[in-house]
Amino acid sequence: MAMCQVCRRTLLAGERYRMWHWERRDQTICVVCEPLAEEAGAVRVVDAYESVRATGLTQTVRRVA
Ligand SMILES: [Zn+2]
Repeated sequence: MAMCQVCRRTLLAGERYRMWHWERRDQTICVVCEPLAEEAGAVRVVDAYESVRATGLTQTVRRVA
């Protein structure tokens, strides 16, 4: 279950977030809080957004080939 470390909100299914390095830790930060985090000195770790999956679980894709 993904939670934004800034607003302490549990992210909803389909909501986008990215990892930021802040206060010596990698933190999950939602799109809404990104400007805040950046102002506070956080450094973005990845370029790509991730989305919260409806199940909350990372599913293993079984390849059939
Ligand atoms: Zn947030």
